[in-house]
Amino acid sequence: MFFCPACNTSHGITLGRNGWSWNENEDKPTFNPSLYSVAGELKCHCFVRDGRIEYLTDSTHDLRGKSVELPDWPF
Ligand SMILES: [Zn+2]
Repeated sequence: MFFCPACNTSHGITLGRNGWSWNENEDKPTFNPSLYSVAGELKCHCFVRDGRIEYLTDSTHDLRGKSVELPDWPF
């Protein structure tokens, strides 16, 4: 799981077969494919690459089209 500052919550993915691939880098993780999360009106579509979250423009939050450093886990 990682914390998403756009949604102000966590997103979780499943690694491995039928799930996401991970570059096994804990400091600068890359996950494939992209992650798409829908919570009511809020749509969040992003890639996590080299420790950064890259939000795609079909997201509906303020960070769409931007990329941010993957934040520390706040919980
Ligand atoms: Zn999000």
